[in-house]
Amino acid sequence: MDIIDLEVDGYERVVRTHDGESGLHALIAVHDTTMGPALGGMRMWPYASEDEALTDVLRLSKGMTYKSAVAHTGLGGGKAVVIGDPNEIKSEALFLAMGRFVDSLGGKYITAEDVNIAVPDLEIVRRTTKYVTGLSREDGGSGNPSPYTAYGVFLGLCAACEVKFGSEDLSSRSVAVQGVGAVGSALVRRLRERGAKVWVCDVRNDRAREVGDQYGAEVVSMDAIFDVDADVFAPCALGAVVNDATIDRLNVEIVAGGANNVLHEARHGAELFRRGVLYAPDYVINAGGIINVSVEFAPGGYDQETSLKKIERIPAALKEVWEISASQGIPASDAADHLAESILAEARRG
Ligand code: NAD
Repeated sequence: MDIIDLEVDGYERVVRTHDGESGLHALIAVHDTTMGPALGGMRMWPYASEDEALTDVLRLSKGMTYKSAVAHTGLGGGKAVVIGDPNEIKSEALFLAMGRFVDSLGGKYITAEDVNIAVPDLEIVRRTTKYVTGLSREDGGSGNPSPYTAYGVFLGLCAACEVKFGSEDLSSRSVAVQGVGAVGSALVRRLRERGAKVWVCDVRNDRAREVGDQYGAEVVSMDAIFDVDADVFAPCALGAVVNDATIDRLNVEIVAGGANNVLHEARHGAELFRRGVLYAPDYVINAGGIINVSVEFAPGGYDQETSLKKIERIPAALKEVWEISASQGIPASDAADHLAESILAEARRG
């Protein structure tokens, strides 16, 4: 397998391979290992070009460094992207080759699930590398991360209510949840248990109705979710949902959800701040999943209690971010980056 190093400023290592035999065309970016080995998922996507894939892997791996730094997982940031249509290119040979590619970094990069990659795929990858996490509990892994992500989002949302309204009590609060997949539905359950009024939507109407019926949440259309008169908007579907088209419609005091890359551009974070909307930066509030995976590296292996204790620190991390935001007069999204950079700088100083 030919592995070619790409020199990219600010990244420890970026490698590519285009393996004729298995058809594997992939990139791995190791952004930063100051805090520990670079952990981040493997994404499969039909990128239009290798350049597009490179942009994505660089952005995502840096995001993982920041997320892990603020969550104190003891891990660095990395990511892998496999170029191609998952309906066409998945094969045993491809995942075995991907395992060899991951293995070539000698543990500097550790892989996990991401978009279009599932546990059965990783089980093949594991045959050619040991640097794989997030496998099932039966296989000694930490299992499905979604319930842990949802737990962290729920705690973060409560902390936002405490900061904004002076109380964590949700019985008089209302939340619009966009997307009720693995994370969104688990969040809805917790919110309803605490007596919040909840609206839900999903691109899959049947799914929205099912979750609405099960937990007693009101179903609205995908478009109407932006206009609901709620205290909190909780994006749990796609990224870039706070954008030029939606920001004026949001009638909420808090944006706090599980989705990655919630802000379309940094200026949308600045606009939320200007309007007095409290934003829980995505990679801080949705770190429960990576925290859970990181516990696999604890001496003695995975332990759920340790994981939950660490996830319960997410509210403290968010409050630190909001304090920086308030004291420096900067958007919470920028304050989170400042916090991550200061944690990394301190670790580099030793
Ligand atoms: P999922 O695929 O289980 O759920 C996403 C849901 O959103 C699906 O039900 C889908 O039908 C729906 N959806 C898609 N487009 C929509 C739209 N335009 N409007 C409304 N609904 C729409 O995914 P998930 O694991 O629940 O993850 C949700 C989000 O949280 C993603 O952005 C993911 O990147 C992020 N995230 C997840 C985890 C995790 O542990 N699963 C961790 C960190 C971040």
